[in-house]
Amino acid sequence: MQITVLAGGVGGARFVRGLLAHLADSPDPAHRDAEVTVIGNTGDDITLFGLRVCPDLDTVMYTLGGGIHEEQGWGRADESHVVQGELAAYGAQPQWFGLGDRDIATHVARSQLLDLGMPLSQVTAVLCDRWGLPGQGVRLLPMSDDPVETHVVVDDQDGRRAVHFQEWWVRMRAAVPAQQFVAVGIDTATAGPGVLESIRAADVVLLPPSNPVVSIGIILGVPGVRDALRGTRAPVVGVSPIVGGRPVRGHADACLRAIGVETTAGAVAGLYEDFLDGWLVDDTLGTDLGSVRQRAGLTVRSRPLLMTDVPAAAAIAGAALDLAADLQPQRASV
Ligand code: GDP
Ligand code: CA
Repeated sequence: MQITVLAGGVGGARFVRGLLAHLADSPDPAHRDAEVTVIGNTGDDITLFGLRVCPDLDTVMYTLGGGIHEEQGWGRADESHVVQGELAAYGAQPQWFGLGDRDIATHVARSQLLDLGMPLSQVTAVLCDRWGLPGQGVRLLPMSDDPVETHVVVDDQDGRRAVHFQEWWVRMRAAVPAQQFVAVGIDTATAGPGVLESIRAADVVLLPPSNPVVSIGIILGVPGVRDALRGTRAPVVGVSPIVGGRPVRGHADACLRAIGVETTAGAVAGLYEDFLDGWLVDDTLGTDLGSVRQRAGLTVRSRPLLMTDVPAAAAIAGAALDLAADLQPQRASV
């Protein structure tokens, strides 16, 4: 069984960790032997102090490899910040992006291999080897080997300008209204090796509750990805990142506002309308199910969607696979 997942950072990583736990516990041998391909967002990538940083890929890698800072959701456990303190003593910029010492080693290793001319997909595979992802049946594929960087158009007392996504998200805490997101480099980017194939050849495609605009939305902008999702014979099932009309964490509401979309489970499903077969919402507060516009070809179910721990995330992944299994005949006949 081939399962392909499109993932951002924390939401994507926790979902995939739950998916692996669910598959490992399954009585179905096809599940236990399943191969999981994670297509990671690289729009958040940034070069800092000469080092290439890929926050979403690293969040997935650390989470699946057991090295994640659990409470924070990103970065390394048992982290120290000696290098950052030394950089600050020199006045080196920027100071607003948190880089721990253990994490910096990842960026040094990555940058060294990139500088040798290795494509990001191969570099990522090398890094993931250390964290044991292949042994768990997981491949982590950057959406593209070509650099793509999400920039945000803002307009404040310093005037109208574009800043890197990380500056908006981390330094400005998304408090300055975003006028527009621009994925610099995406039009000429090529999908990474295996990306389109893994969607076309999948038995199931899953969208975790990742940010619909700056995570999933960016991956969908890579030429060919949307067409592959429309064309695949695999059912495509998503999990809403909006619960009770609000993002569970982060600033997805500010991102949705910038593209003129309401912060509801239904409005997010609308962004995927051309390829989405199944959508999981969490109607605990009685608001989310009703926000989804009914249409032929979309099946909606309500389940508890808070990934409070690994078993909770596993149950969500299991519900997504169950829904996909029910939708298989319908999709295959299209
Ligand atoms: P980021 O790159 O670290 O921001 O992570 P992602 O793009 O993968 O995911 C961010 C989205 O995940 C946010 O919009 C959150 O609302 C959503 N999210 C985070 N934790 C949960 C959860 O436990 N349940 C659900 N349904 N969504 C979540
Ligand atoms: Ca991210």
